[in-house]
This record gives sequence, structure tokens and C-alpha cells, in this order.
Amino acid sequence: MIELEGLTKRYGEKVAVDNLTFTVRPGIVTGFLGPNGAGKSTTMRMMLGLDRPTAGDVRIDGKHYDRLKDPLTYIGALLDAKAVHGGRSAYNHLLCLAQSNGIPKSRVAEVLDTVGLTAVAKKKAKGFSLGMGQRLGIAGALLGDPRILMFDEPVNGLDPEGIHWIRNLMKSLAAQGRTVFVSSHLMSEMALTADHLVVIGQGRLLADTSMADFIDRNSRSYVRVRTPQRERLLDVLHQAGVTVVEAGSGALEVDGGKAEQIGELAAQHQIVLHELSPQQASLEEAFMQLTAESVEYHAHTDTPVDQPRPWGEGWNRS
Ligand code: ADP
Ligand code: MG
Repeated sequence: MIELEGLTKRYGEKVAVDNLTFTVRPGIVTGFLGPNGAGKSTTMRMMLGLDRPTAGDVRIDGKHYDRLKDPLTYIGALLDAKAVHGGRSAYNHLLCLAQSNGIPKSRVAEVLDTVGLTAVAKKKAKGFSLGMGQRLGIAGALLGDPRILMFDEPVNGLDPEGIHWIRNLMKSLAAQGRTVFVSSHLMSEMALTADHLVVIGQGRLLADTSMADFIDRNSRSYVRVRTPQRERLLDVLHQAGVTVVEAGSGALEVDGGKAEQIGELAAQHQIVLHELSPQQASLEEAFMQLTAESVEYHAHTDTPVDQPRPWGEGWNRS
């Protein structure tokens, strides 16, 4: 378990992490989601005692990181995969880690096997691909057989096979009852891995919710309809008791409606339709809306003229 209480980090005027309070629980994968610059890495560094909080507190199984005896046996982390001494072999890198942390030498071969690096164990890490470096970093995190694991953007730059492998590894670690905390700036990635979601923007907590709840509240399905006889169709739909939202550029959005039902109503009243398409709101959109105000630099040209409604309203109430 990881407990944050009012955790805050300022760099001069800049508030990188702003009064974060949440708990990361064992047995599930907790996704830590936020746009670039939101403060995820800074938060993770403070959890590991690599950065001092300006205010607040973080505890690992009730203790501060620097109070843990042999910390690698409590918490393992993948922060920056390139932080490996390139001149050493994968085996020697892990052996040094083991020896300086009171971990039995036998663990080295075990974790090399777990991450699939046994065949290249004697090769120098500087010749490793990004994916192999990532696996070596993960081997280091697993070395002390810790109950808590933390991965900062582990899938960045990986090929699909590597991404698939990391996802499954995180899920199996959680299934063993461990606490798994993983950051990403991609909602699509979290949707496939995380059971629970902590969302931050500009250092502040925006949501702390189960993934299932998030999906429930944000996967709105609706039918988009376009017609040159807009007023007539609106009348017909209102009379049929169907709720319609007027979306931009002349389209109508029918919540929870069936395309067949709308099409048949239109046909009965001889209304021409130019579009009749079932839609599913994406989680990515919901995430972008949630964090929109906290993104530092907007690419204004990317902002659609017709902003969709904030259909996720209220989902971050706890
Ligand atoms: P994320 O990992 O979510 O992308 P970071 O934790 O790396 O975000 O950064 C959060 C904010 O803090 C950013 O605005 C970043 O520029 C700033 N920041 C991070 N580290 C430092 C530092 N050592 N000195 C000054 N500002 C920093
Ligand atoms: Mg980061």
C-alpha cells in the first residue's frame, strides 16, 4: 500500500505536485494518468525518496522510504530505463544491485528468466535495444521480490509485442496480491491495464475512481443524425419521447436511441436522412475533457469547432 497525504512539490514558483492525497491499494493495477508535465514522475520520485516533498507526506506500507530496511525488498521501480551502467552486462548489473541490497544472488537468474533476457545476460547493456533496456529495468524492479511495484511510462517507445508483455506482467503481479502503480499519458493504455485510475493535471488530483466506473460514466452511446428537414425530425422525435441533443454543424445526437427506431420514424414521416450513425464516446475524449484546463500548451488549431458536451459530468465525485 502507498499512502499520499497532501503531497506537494514546488520548484521555485512552479508547483509541480499540488496537495495530492490518495491511496494505492494492493491486488490491483492502479493507473496514474495525466498529460505530459502533470507531475507524475515528480510524484513517483517523491514516493521513492529521490525527491523531497515541499509539504505533505508519502508512506510505503506505513513507513517513509528512507526508514525501510532493504527498500528494494519493499518496493521496486522502473523510472528511467536508460539509468543502467551501459558498460556492465545485464547479469553483472543485477548482481551489483542484489549485493548492495542484501538480496540473494540466486534471484539474478530468476528475474533474468522472468523478463526473457537469459540468452543475453552476458551481453553489455549499452548494446541493448530500448525494449531490452526496459526489460532489464523491470528485472531490477523485481529483484527484491517486492510487494509494491511502480512503473513510470513503461510502454513508451516499445513495440507492440513488448507492450503486450508489460501489460500482462503488470496484471499478473497484481493478481499475486502486489501493489502495482503505473503511469501513462495515454488513456487508451490505461483502459487496457488498470483496474483503478488516479488522474492528475497540473499537479492536482482530478479523479480517483475505479476503471469500471470511469468507463460506465464516460462510454456514452448515441446516434448521430443529419437531415435537411431538421425541424420536422426534431418534432417527430420529441413526440416519440426521444431525447435529442443539438450537436454542432447541423447534426443531432440521440441519446440511447436505436438507429433502426430513428430510421423507421423518419421513413414514416417521409423525412430524408443524410446520416444515421451509432456512435460511442471514447475514453480518450473523456480524459481530454477532464484535463483540458490543466494542459499547459494547447494546440488551438486541433480544437474542434463543435465541442462535444461534457457528458462525463460528475464522474469524479467520490
Ligand atoms: P510528468 O511526469 O507528468 O510528465 P513531471 O513530474 O516530469 O511531469 O513534471 C511536472 C512539472 O514539474 C513540469 O512542469 C516540469 O517542467 C516540472 N519539473 C519537474 N522536475 C523539475 C525540476 N527538477 N526543476 C524544475 N521543474 C521541474
Ligand atoms: Mg514523466
